[in-house]
Amino acid sequence: MDRKDFLRTFLVLGGYSLFTSFTEDNPSQDFTRDQLIGKGNPDILGESYLTTMHRETAVALQKMRTAASKEHIDLEVVSAFRSFQRQKEIFENKFITYRAEGLPPLETIEKIIAYSTIPGTSRHHWGTDLDLIDGNKPKPSDVLVAKNFHGDGPYCKMKEWMDLHANDFGFYEVYTDNSLRKGFKYEPWHFSYAPVSVPMLRAYATLDLKNILLEEKIKGSEYFTDSFIEKYRKENIFDINPKLL
Ligand SMILES: [Zn+2]
Repeated sequence: MDRKDFLRTFLVLGGYSLFTSFTEDNPSQDFTRDQLIGKGNPDILGESYLTTMHRETAVALQKMRTAASKEHIDLEVVSAFRSFQRQKEIFENKFITYRAEGLPPLETIEKIIAYSTIPGTSRHHWGTDLDLIDGNKPKPSDVLVAKNFHGDGPYCKMKEWMDLHANDFGFYEVYTDNSLRKGFKYEPWHFSYAPVSVPMLRAYATLDLKNILLEEKIKGSEYFTDSFIEKYRKENIFDINPKLL
């Protein structure tokens, strides 16, 4: 077993203390541009939309699900891997809907990027990020709403359990409840498998974002000015839980 394999095994077994050195020692793992923008990754496997994710994420999720089930929490995946094309559909459907409601183009884009990403920039492209709820609870009409995870919301117990234990399995909340944080709104359902997503974000940081945003004709992309792209990069891509940087 080489050092990398050792560290990976250690992490899978729940080791935490070496996690920081793992990411610092491997800042430049090789990822292709396609892997980073949701256009093909041989490590992403799965039978259905809800089970398709990075193979290492799947292993860690299984371990975390088993642990949570002992507390009668059913960690249910609502969204896992999303391709560039799928994100393009989501973005454009929202663009069409909001424009039809009379919202001007720039406000339309701002409204979309409160919660949804521009294709090519989603962490769901990596197969490392999951939206999770507690499948043991009755489903409200809208599951991915922050109030469901607080107060007397159905996912409070899950949220408390994840706050205590998710990190032990390598999962971290991405869009934290920090009033100083900009970019995407608070998402108590969105978790990232750090041992893979941290090196992926570091590799992503080396890509030309403008080139990604403009390489396909996306509805509204004529409004992606240089200053918009710089702000989006700073706030929406990098203003996240610092543990994931
Ligand atoms: Zn998500």
